[in-house]
Amino acid sequence: MTRPRTVLPPVESRLTGAAHPRNQLKRQLKKELATLTAPDTAAMRPSLWLSVTAAPFVLHVAVRDDTTLEDVDAFLREVWMECCGHLSLFEFRQKNERSVLYLADPEEEEDEFELRDAYFPDMTDEEWLKMNVQVRANAPLQKPLTVTVREAMDGVPDLRYEYDMGTTTRCVLKVEAELTLPWPEGRTVRLLARNARPDWVCRECGEAATKLCIMGECWDDGYAKFCAKHARTHSRKVHPREGGDSWMIAPLSNSPRDPCCGYFEHPGSEKEYVW
Ligand SMILES: [Zn+2]
Ligand SMILES: [Zn+2]
Ligand SMILES: [Zn+2]
Repeated sequence: MTRPRTVLPPVESRLTGAAHPRNQLKRQLKKELATLTAPDTAAMRPSLWLSVTAAPFVLHVAVRDDTTLEDVDAFLREVWMECCGHLSLFEFRQKNERSVLYLADPEEEEDEFELRDAYFPDMTDEEWLKMNVQVRANAPLQKPLTVTVREAMDGVPDLRYEYDMGTTTRCVLKVEAELTLPWPEGRTVRLLARNARPDWVCRECGEAATKLCIMGECWDDGYAKFCAKHARTHSRKVHPREGGDSWMIAPLSNSPRDPCCGYFEHPGSEKEYVW
């Protein structure tokens, strides 16, 4: 099935509040960044400008040169992902290269010969190394989340991020530019811009939608969305066998996680990252 083409919502700057169309965003944001003023106590530091995309949702953020993947993970959880503390990871994947997984709890690479001694004691060193190289080439290298963003993205076109290994939500991180920016003490991630809420419309009347129905039978290239009025009548009309009450109606959130695992956005969750 081909998806109907939808216009991506504009992106709102958290520096000026202005809304920019997608194709002008980078130019406009660059201008805004060039005129940033900061308190004297803020230190100028080399920084990265990242985009995080899960269309139609997008975040633009700045990070310091020593910001870690752990900091970015905490930010993504807070602003987009967190429902109940699932596992998450960053992944570098590219053809003909060994993948790298960045995890909270990576497995140590075993001693080269311990496995051989345990399972293939008759193999010579040479035979074992030959086999082991192939095995390792197919198994991703695991690294901790304490690696800096700069190191993880050095020479890398993008990093994937996954939250929740069951009902997984994915997004892609890219470096948009290198900059020097002012950083007040203790800050490591700054939200620069975020997509405006998409123009969701009610399936019944075409008015602005604020709720959705999470029932599989209402899936039609996306969850069925409703205005407040039709959200009230939907369950009774369409799901009388499930009780007809409103447990299957959830608020619409400006997040790619919505509505997995009962996710709903927490008002003010981005506050800590906007200044
Ligand atoms: Zn959950
Ligand atoms: Zn309606
Ligand atoms: Zn429904």
